[in-house]
Amino acid sequence: MTKNAFVCQMCGSCCTGEGGIVVSRSDRERLSRLLDIPLAVFEQRYTRRKSQTFYLTTREDGSCVFFSPESGCRVHSGKPDICLAWPFFYGNLRDEVSWKMAQDYCPGIDPKVSHEDFMRQGLDYLQAHGLFHRNGGDGANSLQIEDLLDSGTEEENCPRNTRNDTKE
Ligand code: SF4
Ligand code: SF4
Repeated sequence: MTKNAFVCQMCGSCCTGEGGIVVSRSDRERLSRLLDIPLAVFEQRYTRRKSQTFYLTTREDGSCVFFSPESGCRVHSGKPDICLAWPFFYGNLRDEVSWKMAQDYCPGIDPKVSHEDFMRQGLDYLQAHGLFHRNGGDGANSLQIEDLLDSGTEEENCPRNTRNDTKE
């Protein structure tokens, strides 16, 4: 059996840093339901908008507004698609150099598993969890992987926890 290309080590690195977490309309609706507040209140309180794209706000240290150093993601059961999809982003799936660079940042990516297996497992995972976004949608560009989908995938054991499992 092929080794898992990714197993989260719960280091929390991906909850801090530049770039920002894009939250699509469906992410925002899910999170507002989880927090039991109206969508408009959620957007006003927890997001910033740049053009048509919404991002979760961050604290001064760069950490996500929902990240707790003690307990990890405070919205774990409803976390944004992009959080659930990492590290299976378009660039990492398509480009071996990006995948290698991501290993410096994310200790959950197993460098001993080939990039080919990483890509195959990643595409299976994104499809199985409905995480890829259609081109032109309001989700993250990194989840717009339509042109990779005809690369061919096989059934593999899913390497990644679902929203209801522990990540951080
Ligand atoms: S996905 Fe990677 S960077 Fe994020 S918590 Fe897991 S191991 Fe750390
Ligand atoms: S997993 Fe949770 S805490 Fe981490 S970036 Fe996503 S929403 Fe924020």
